[in-house]
Amino acid sequence: MAEFSHASTNPQPLADVDDWESIHHGLDSEASPKATFRDYRTNVRAGVVEFYRLNHQYQTLDFVREKKRTFMGRSQRSMGIWEAMEYLNTLVDESDPDTDLSQIEHLMQTSEAIRADGHPRWFILTGLIHDLGKILCLEGEPQWAVVGDTFPVGCRFSERIVFPEFFENNPDFARPELQTLHGIYEEGCGLDAVHLSWGHDEYLYHVVKNHLPDEALAMIRYHSFYAWHTEGEYRYLMNDHDSKMLEHVKAFNPYDLYSKGASRPDVAALTPYYQELIAEFFPEKLAW
Ligand code: FE
Ligand code: FE
Repeated sequence: MAEFSHASTNPQPLADVDDWESIHHGLDSEASPKATFRDYRTNVRAGVVEFYRLNHQYQTLDFVREKKRTFMGRSQRSMGIWEAMEYLNTLVDESDPDTDLSQIEHLMQTSEAIRADGHPRWFILTGLIHDLGKILCLEGEPQWAVVGDTFPVGCRFSERIVFPEFFENNPDFARPELQTLHGIYEEGCGLDAVHLSWGHDEYLYHVVKNHLPDEALAMIRYHSFYAWHTEGEYRYLMNDHDSKMLEHVKAFNPYDLYSKGASRPDVAALTPYYQELIAEFFPEKLAW
């Protein structure tokens, strides 16, 4: 039998950085979420299981704190929102380019679906920018530290997080003080006080937090926190503000998941509208 080396912490198992979301595409929260949720294992695209094995192994409380120190302590670069969209669009996926949308197309499909339903301008803008944190992939970060479902670290891992068995390889799993129901947190402390696994959601939240209403910020910060917004877990960490925000995060989710597959947006034709929308809320440059 051939020998193989132990997986390093920086492999890139996903051919398309959005493939992890295939787990949720069979999910219809209107129908019977619990029945469909457990089917995710049969629906996943190649690389997704390996992706979550790494993600659940390496996302520890110490890791999250370290990433926050790195990315929130100092600005790596100065960019406007549009510039960040063009930068993110250089992220080329290895899947079939004819069927897969570019990152700008995914963003505009999401925002156009929100716009078509007559939602306010801040909501449309949120759809447009919600995944810009994925530029972390272009900064040399491994996929497991950029995308995937997010979850709290520092307290017990919920059984309703995808592939919960992989948490057995997480060093925090062997720290009893981090595996009680509340762990390092207090009942009702509010999600703002909770460390979620590090990724594009938390990163973008910190870049844009002074420029958007609270509802928009919650959508950005928690859009991958499926165990909370879809599975109903971790309610004991919420405060009153989170209860209000939960409805908004839930309202955003279908636009993120199901706008894919709609017709391809005409990026050139839509650009002037979106540049004006960006200028309404954001300064010319932001610290990334
Ligand atoms: Fe996302
Ligand atoms: Fe998205």
